[in-house]
Amino acid sequence: MWNSLNSCSLQLYLFLSLLFLFDEGSRFPKLHLLMSSARFLSFEQAREIAQQFGSPVYVYDEASLMKAADRLLAFPNPFGLTARYAIKASSNGALLNLFHQKGIHFDASSEFEVYRAIQGGIPADRISLSSQEFPEDISGLVDLGISANACSLSQLKAFGEALPGGELGLRVNPGVGSGGTLKTNVGGPSSSFGIWHEVLDEAAAIIQEYSLKIVRVHSHIGSGSDPKVWVKAADLTINQVRRFPEVTHLNLGGGFKVGRMPGEASTDLQVVGELIKLALQTFADETGRKLHLEVEPGTFLVANSGCLLATVQDKVHTGDCGHVFLKLDGGMTDILRPTLYAAQQPMTVMPVSDQVPVAEEPVIVVGHCCESGDLLTPDESDPGLLKERSLQKAEIGDLFIIDGAGAYCSSMNAKNYNSFPELPEVLVRSSGELVLIRQRQTLEQILQNEIPL
Ligand SMILES: *Cc1c(COP(=O)(O)O)cnc(C)c1O
Repeated sequence: MWNSLNSCSLQLYLFLSLLFLFDEGSRFPKLHLLMSSARFLSFEQAREIAQQFGSPVYVYDEASLMKAADRLLAFPNPFGLTARYAIKASSNGALLNLFHQKGIHFDASSEFEVYRAIQGGIPADRISLSSQEFPEDISGLVDLGISANACSLSQLKAFGEALPGGELGLRVNPGVGSGGTLKTNVGGPSSSFGIWHEVLDEAAAIIQEYSLKIVRVHSHIGSGSDPKVWVKAADLTINQVRRFPEVTHLNLGGGFKVGRMPGEASTDLQVVGELIKLALQTFADETGRKLHLEVEPGTFLVANSGCLLATVQDKVHTGDCGHVFLKLDGGMTDILRPTLYAAQQPMTVMPVSDQVPVAEEPVIVVGHCCESGDLLTPDESDPGLLKERSLQKAEIGDLFIIDGAGAYCSSMNAKNYNSFPELPEVLVRSSGELVLIRQRQTLEQILQNEIPL
């Protein structure tokens, strides 16, 4: 399987990965600073937002979003780059438009995401679709101008039936995967995503049967990937391009790990990108084919640019052998990562009283749902296990910030459980101006599709 191209870049990445794969900032974490204040919101801003828009509320920071966009657009590449934003990470049209204005394209995970983006003003030719469920109207979508990737043999066949002679990409499962958790690992033998690399001959037969033109090879191996595995998957994917002489574009997906907690490492795109650049150059030297590179992260662009601003609405304790519990006015109805992945999120208490208390106390933070799974401070090993967090002493009414909540939070949660409404979203413009980009859902909206007896 491995050829000279792979072994060359492989050796290099093994060497470099030991030294440089994580970025500067994370090797020298400013532990103290990060723990004592929220990532981008000041006390004053938090108070103003809660007063103006209510609590809980999602808040995004334009300056951080644009910084991440600039870093993504600087991804090293020898023959051209298309940077995409994976819409599912956080789907508000205002965020999509900010990225669109930066020249970023989009990755959709369902036909609904495609239509949502188009309705929000994103041109269809900026959108590519890689979905687990094949869209009902693929011809309509392709007519609009999107590019599609077939993610299984049956999808490839369905595309051929609908659009014989058409152009598309192939999502392959290169044989390795890596994610922050097993739930976010979408490559390798335990993952159903993409066409398994050993059955690409079958894909070739379908391509021939329907005279399809494969212009792109695509892979995406997981969210929060180990950068070493990511680079290995990239090498394996480049190698698959050899089978398809008409391929001009290589899409390596997203999955770049972003540290959310103090001291947690982040992937350095410059370092990973240099390895990819070298591999593409080597491939071109060998085959004469200059592949246009695409990457499509979600997490990288938004994870640390969003927070959940909530309020401590109750505080209880369970005796000497128990815990002190802070109950927020939000929870799994708004943020599911702790419950789903045992994800660790930075948390900051913002006291409403003016004096800043210095004392800390170990607490368990829970959400507002009648469900003990609505736990915001789980142990890393198990989302059901309680783990105390030492936080500034909080009282009922204090503001509470959950940082690192820009990706897979407002777009992925147990919305409307216990009939709590979906949260509003606010954007802090680079100028400091506060803009409401989604209203709080009303009870009428929660009920609007019910048909009473
Ligand atoms: C989810 C997804 C991404 C983005 O993943 P991140 O880990 O958020 O970067 C990219 N491509 C595809 C096909 C995806 O499904």
